[in-house]
Amino acid sequence: MPDLTKAYRILCVQPHPDDTDIAFGATVALLAGRGVEVFYVSVTDDAAGLSGEDAALPYEERVELRRREQRAAARRLGVTDVIELGFPDAGNWSAYDARNAIIDVIRSVRPDTLLTIDPWMKYEAHGDHRRTGLAAAEAAILHDFPAIGDRAAPVDTPQHTNKLERVGFFFTDNPNLVLDAEAGMERKHLALADHASQWDESTYRELVEYDRWRCERYGQSIGARYAEALLLVPVAWLHIFPDLVTISRSQP
Ligand SMILES: [Zn+2]
Repeated sequence: MPDLTKAYRILCVQPHPDDTDIAFGATVALLAGRGVEVFYVSVTDDAAGLSGEDAALPYEERVELRRREQRAAARRLGVTDVIELGFPDAGNWSAYDARNAIIDVIRSVRPDTLLTIDPWMKYEAHGDHRRTGLAAAEAAILHDFPAIGDRAAPVDTPQHTNKLERVGFFFTDNPNLVLDAEAGMERKHLALADHASQWDESTYRELVEYDRWRCERYGQSIGARYAEALLLVPVAWLHIFPDLVTISRSQP
């Protein structure tokens, strides 16, 4: 079974700038605090996800606002860098193009762990979420075939020989790894507040309340006050392996 404690460079591929923070932000803060390099990849520009006066801003200003908020939240959690792919939020972009862009990122960042949305979560209605999870999972299994992608794969150098070992899915209904997140919860909720254009005060309060409830439920299974959860699997399990959920659940 894959072991997240062995990770030292993690790539979090998210549809929108706040998704990793909502799902896994406390653990990101704790991992970064232990010296793990965490990179965020935002697939879309999030220009559609604003409300109120912000929604009336010109397109470039909406993109810039979300970029500033994302970078503030990422700094707070200790994220090493944020990469923006710039696909149009809630737009008609293709998972194929996103997959190739993510393959390029994997080849240059060289993570040992990729985290993304579980695209097979039941009742996820947002197309950006489903396509991002699929594009990232496919990029994980195909990135080391040199003939696949928009650009040829770089040759390994002595500094960059690490291999993508494991893929973790958050926002999943099949978690197999629950991590004590209590020490990162306060920072996570401050990072969510950094995404100020995404919620008014009462929506933010509801989000934090829901997050505490969800993290308490995960925590109960490991005797922690708050926890976050993943479905974490070896990369090789993401192809012709219908036993993935059964096997991953049977592991400690
Ligand atoms: Zn999202």
